[in-house]
Amino acid sequence: MRTSRLLACCPVCGTGSRRVHSRYLRKLGDLPWEGIPVAIQLRTRKFFCDDELCRRHIFTEPLSSTVPRYGRRTLRSVEALDWMTLVLGGQAGARLARKLGLLVTGSTLLRQLRHRAQCKPLAAPRVLGIDDWAWRKGHRYGTILCDLENRRVIDLLPDREAATVSAWLVQHPGSEIVSRDRGGIYAQAARAAAPGAIQVADRWHLLRNLSEALKNALSPHHRLLAQAARSGTSEAPAVVAAAQPSVPPWELRAQQRNRERRFSRYEEVRRLGQTGASHASIARQLDLDHRTVCKFLRAGTFPEAQRSPRSGIVDPYADYLDQRLEQGHRNVSKLWRELREQGFTGQLNIVRRWLRCRRGYYPTSTAAAPRKAAPRISVRQIVWHILKETPAAQVYLQQIYQASPQISAISNLAMEFFRLIRQRDLPALTPWFEAAKTTALAGFASHLARDREAVEAALMLLFSLFQVEGQVHGLKLVKRQMYGRAGFDLLRLRVLQSA
Ligand SMILES: [Zn+2]
Repeated sequence: MRTSRLLACCPVCGTGSRRVHSRYLRKLGDLPWEGIPVAIQLRTRKFFCDDELCRRHIFTEPLSSTVPRYGRRTLRSVEALDWMTLVLGGQAGARLARKLGLLVTGSTLLRQLRHRAQCKPLAAPRVLGIDDWAWRKGHRYGTILCDLENRRVIDLLPDREAATVSAWLVQHPGSEIVSRDRGGIYAQAARAAAPGAIQVADRWHLLRNLSEALKNALSPHHRLLAQAARSGTSEAPAVVAAAQPSVPPWELRAQQRNRERRFSRYEEVRRLGQTGASHASIARQLDLDHRTVCKFLRAGTFPEAQRSPRSGIVDPYADYLDQRLEQGHRNVSKLWRELREQGFTGQLNIVRRWLRCRRGYYPTSTAAAPRKAAPRISVRQIVWHILKETPAAQVYLQQIYQASPQISAISNLAMEFFRLIRQRDLPALTPWFEAAKTTALAGFASHLARDREAVEAALMLLFSLFQVEGQVHGLKLVKRQMYGRAGFDLLRLRVLQSA
């Protein structure tokens, strides 16, 4: 190809020129044709600049609508590649590009995107949500800023320092409402940099702070709490079982029902067997399979149902496991390791599932299995039961409340706060503060009182950071796609592009 226009403009002074200095060949990568890589051999020109005052005497004819300056690819192919990088990242983008006929490497894609990318200047939204996200959990955190009305990410910041956030807020003024967590950093930044904005404490974070405070208030009583769980009333173990949900309760109930039905059938078969009836006649009478009748009659004890075909590989070790269970060993990983030593090849989960079926047989609350370890319930679980008012835990909780009026008072106060946040009961807030002053939750209350306006706003306004959590999930997805060459700038580009 060659260029055909008569006039070219100097890129420095803008003067048009018709005087050609020389010609040369440029090789440009272009979009593929039918999957075949395409290169354009472009015969292009250099011109003299005729403006005497211009510092440029000779210039290359600019082709800004087709090829970037100094570029080796046409603009349209560069744009296509940039999108592949934004959506897929460097390596995956390059793989797709090569499949389509654009020969490029991952590093080139990333370099090109970094070189070209300029994010559009962002305007601050009317309702701004600020939260943190983990770059690496427990080590390094960043800040995410969202438009809560239009549900999109506005910007990412590389850390969660007050200075960084205030700097952003100063550069992007205009937010009327700032919704943020209960951490002091964002509150401080918003107060300093956006004093006109209404601050809203996030309700979810308020409730999380509440449960932390309640946990701290209950911790000194842990001995009492543990004693109540151990105290041998029939309800306490039920609480513990509910607190450690390994099998969902409905599944347990269904399993129990099935087992009872099967057990009654087993007993019926045995009874008929003792009267001397033949296998076939028992099978006919009870409408059972012939093989089932045989199995029941041959078995010395009630054969438990096989819940999973994979569990079959545990069966050769059943006697050993039963024996260990009866000795009171209930640690699944330990039992699994013991089986491995005996040549068992299955995974831990298979043993766990097998034992779970078996445990219906050795219910934790009866004396069938001698219990070494007392049932344990953590303070965190108790906090959960108190705030959620779990029906299964009520008997246990009442027992604790009777034993300690102090715990009862703290719990009632926490439940009331939980209720008033969830029901947005603003008038109840002042009495709550008064009531909390003299209790173990006083520290939490005074901390809240310092942020009172934001707490009240949380009860009046509808905005919450829940959607930001969703945005953080999206961000994590992109972050994990970018292992290896992930830099903050690329992550930010990709997240903002997807918003
Ligand atoms: Zn010029």
